[in-house]
Amino acid sequence: MKYAVGIDIGGTKTALGLVTSDGQVLSKASLTTDLSLAPSDMVDKIAEAAHRLLSESSLQQTDLQGIGLGAPGPLNTKLGQIAEPPNLRSWWNFPVVESFKRHFQVPIVLENDATAAALAEKWMGAAKSADHFVYITISTGIGAGIYSHGRLITGATGNAGDIGHMVVDPSGGDCPCGQRGCFEHIASGTAIAREASSLLQRPVTSKEVFELALSGQNTEMKQLVDRVFGNIGVGCATLINTFDPELLVIGGGVSQVGEPLFEAVGAYIKRNALNPSGRNTPVVPAALQQEAGLIGAAALIHTKY
Ligand SMILES: [Zn+2]
Repeated sequence: MKYAVGIDIGGTKTALGLVTSDGQVLSKASLTTDLSLAPSDMVDKIAEAAHRLLSESSLQQTDLQGIGLGAPGPLNTKLGQIAEPPNLRSWWNFPVVESFKRHFQVPIVLENDATAAALAEKWMGAAKSADHFVYITISTGIGAGIYSHGRLITGATGNAGDIGHMVVDPSGGDCPCGQRGCFEHIASGTAIAREASSLLQRPVTSKEVFELALSGQNTEMKQLVDRVFGNIGVGCATLINTFDPELLVIGGGVSQVGEPLFEAVGAYIKRNALNPSGRNTPVVPAALQQEAGLIGAAALIHTKY
């Protein structure tokens, strides 16, 4: 049996797991990403937790094939650095691979978190049999991992698939990135909560918005949700027109709303994808959800991607 540690670094928490070469998560841990710490101190804490996972399974560092890191973009996988992720401000330009090398003398690989999650869905999840698919995560932000011709498309610096900042509706307001109406700014969980809170004049979560909208209790929320689902449809049709995938996989917190989302997106694609075969692209929920990040990070070591 071969082993890897997968580490999914996020803006609020970091998840890590000891994963076998057949995709089993032997043990896992979760730490709060403490942004008041210097990133190298946070790496020390993560490395300590990784060592603990190894010793709990009576393994040593020499038993590891490597360590896979998933982190939010923008990053620079060529340099092994975090670049400028808005939710990890204190980590900007941090040489994360180098920092982990202080603790581990094994191969360390860095990829964008959405890209790693796509690889997880290919390896152990909803896209096992697909050679061409796009994985989309819709939660506080929106990102994607693109898999084409049997391999990941990562781009020159690991930032391919940053679809959250693809403009979907230029009338959709100012995105912090500087453009207007980005996909993420009008269709993420954050966007749903922001718009609903402003309409209802009180703070609401996206989960509550879905409950109000889908139970028929609130017409205004129903209109908002329909508009968001439509915008997700626009994003998905664009991905189909661009990459000609055989499958779309949608994960992330917003996808937990389930059937109403998948139905709306499927209907939009049926009407609007350009290619007749593209109109029938299956859109399915991610299979791995919570663990996709750390399994995907481990897959960076266990699979040829
Ligand atoms: Zn943007």
